[in-house]
Parts: sequence; structure tokens; C-alpha cells
Amino acid sequence: MNKLSLSTTAALANGVNMPRVGLGVFKVENEEELITAVKAAIEIGYRSIDTAAIYGNEEWVGEAIRQSGCNREELFITSKVWNSDQGYEATLKAFNTSLEKMGLEYLDLYLIHWPVEGKYTETWRALEDLYKEGQIKAIGVSNFQVSHLENLLKAAEIKPMINQIELHPKLAQTELRAFAAKHNMHIEAWAPLMQGGLFENEILTEMADKHGKAIAQIVLRWHLQNGIIVIPKSTKPHRLEENVCLFDFELSQQDMELINSLDEHLRVGPDPDNFDF
Ligand code: NAD
Repeated sequence: MNKLSLSTTAALANGVNMPRVGLGVFKVENEEELITAVKAAIEIGYRSIDTAAIYGNEEWVGEAIRQSGCNREELFITSKVWNSDQGYEATLKAFNTSLEKMGLEYLDLYLIHWPVEGKYTETWRALEDLYKEGQIKAIGVSNFQVSHLENLLKAAEIKPMINQIELHPKLAQTELRAFAAKHNMHIEAWAPLMQGGLFENEILTEMADKHGKAIAQIVLRWHLQNGIIVIPKSTKPHRLEENVCLFDFELSQQDMELINSLDEHLRVGPDPDNFDF
């Protein structure tokens, strides 16, 4: 199998290289399942793992990293500050808690999980300071809309290097992608496979058959050809493999346009302009 996908990186605005394909661990709530999956992923060649304080599995991610025997410098570890921990001091504390739970000395990427009104600017200041101290290699946001970004940029000394957002063929996020491109910010897709909501789609089924690929691979390839970083979640070894074999085929312009035509502005997750948690 061609796993070139795993060594392909995106150069962030500060020169840090982030793997374009990583592993998401949202909703992996069983310790053994998580440790087994993360170790299997690292064995396959995954180097980027995306967790968050709210997932409640940072400790297990750290344990899996230690058990894998992989050098820390080879890995790219992301976590996120949860909403109730936002604000300057609380974020510094939450960051240290995440580091302690994972047993790590630094994070590669730390994100503001959601744009909590009245708080995220102060939270960002904490991320900037942690970044300047070298405790985080890159900093970014998640679930930020254009209005949140415009507001943040007015106060920010350092621009977010990443915006991690819900993005898949039914929610193509063209406006946010254009804004990010203008500001040298990379877009990272969460729910890149729409949390399983695309596997019955006829257009994607036909395209998968045509290329002799799985639907998941077609969709992930669409993201990559759009310059998007992806973190599909799976704990099953064959899917972990499948989700990284993305470089032995190419979607044509026509394929890309056909997938673009599936956009319905449809979310499977909360609306960042209207959430209450
Ligand atoms: P996803 O789109 O990655 O879909 C995961 C689902 O697809 C799982 O049910 C899995 O079993 C299935 N799947 C995976 N690979 C498959 C394959 N090859 N064939 C068939 N089915 C397959 O959804 P997600 O987990 O929500 O998103 C990915 C990651 O993004 C998360 O794990 C998490 O790390 C991150 N995330 C971030 C936020 C945020 O607010 N920043 C929100 C949700 C998720």
C-alpha cells in the first residue's frame, strides 16, 4: 500500500511542518481501545494525533505514545483548551493540566476549541505567551467563523496558524477557506468523513467504483487536493490503513467539481455562531 500520505506535510506560517493526514480520537472513550488504536496508527506510520481536554482521553494518548516507542520529536500532538477554561489565567492552567495528563514537555499544536464570546481574545493571549515560551510549536483556533477571526486578528500579535473546522463535501466552507488563504492560515477539517454520513452517497459510490477506491479515500483525497489537513477518526486497523492510502490515485478536475456540487451547507456538529456550551 502507498502510505506517502503520512509523510506529506503542510508548512504552517511559522515554518513548522504539520502532517497533512493525522488521527482524530474524539469519542474514543475506552482506554484499551484508544491505546491499541493509537499504537496501531503509529505503527502504520501516523505521526499526528488530535485530541482535546474535553475528550477525556489525553492521559491515554500520552500512554499510547510512550508504549509506541516512537521519538517525541517525530510526533505532532494537538490538544485544545475547553470552553470553561477560557480566559488568560485559566488557559495557562488548562494547558499545564493537558501537558501533565499526557506526560509531555510540549505540544505541537494547541487550539482554542470554540470561540467563546468575551473570552477568546484573552485565551489567545495565553496561547501567544505559551508559544513565545516555546511550550507550543504552533497555535491556532477551532470553529472560528470569519467574524470571529476578524475580531481576533484586531487584537492578536500572532495570527492563528490553523483553523480546525467542520468540513466535508456537504459543508465545503468556501468562505472560510478563502479567508484562511488570504491570511496564510491552514484549514484543518474535523469530521472530514462527515462522521460516516457520506457512505451511501451515489455520486461518491460511483466515483469510488471508477477509481477502485473506498468512498473514505475519495473524500479524503478531495480534501488533500483542496490543500486541507485531515484527521479522520477510526480505531479499526483496516480503516486506519485505508485512510492513509491516498497518494496512488488522483481525482480529475471533473471529479473535484462533482464533489464540490454536493455542498449543502449541512452541519453534523454545532453551529459556531449559535452554541451554548
Ligand atoms: P470523521 O468524519 O473522522 O468520521 C468518523 C467516523 O467515520 C467513525 O464512525 C469511523 O468509524 C468512520 N470511519 C472512519 N474511517 C472510515 C473508513 N475508511 N470507512 C468507513 N468508515 C470510516 O468524524 P470525527 O471523528 O468527528 O472527526 C475527526 C476528528 O476531528 C475527531 O476524532 C476529533 O479529533 C476532531 N474533531 C474536532 C472537533 C472540534 O470541534 N474541533 C469536533 C469533532 C471532531
